[in-house]
Amino acid sequence: MPGPQHEPPSDLVCSARACGGRAVHALRWNNPRLHTPDRRKTWLACEEHLESLSQHLDARGFLREVVPAERLGALAS
Ligand SMILES: [Zn+2]
Repeated sequence: MPGPQHEPPSDLVCSARACGGRAVHALRWNNPRLHTPDRRKTWLACEEHLESLSQHLDARGFLREVVPAERLGALAS
């Protein structure tokens, strides 16, 4: 099961287990059972893992948006 090994630091590393690839996509998601509606959790994905990570979130209805990882800094501030 995919999942972040750690909260993403400032360098952009794919959140897929044992990947460590450079993340180019950021998946913004929310679990309504755990998070308030405006809360966003972020997973990072390399090209290879974008599909599996987004499918994992989308299957649970958690996925809200996918944005370029380089835009994350602007979104977080
Ligand atoms: Zn990856």
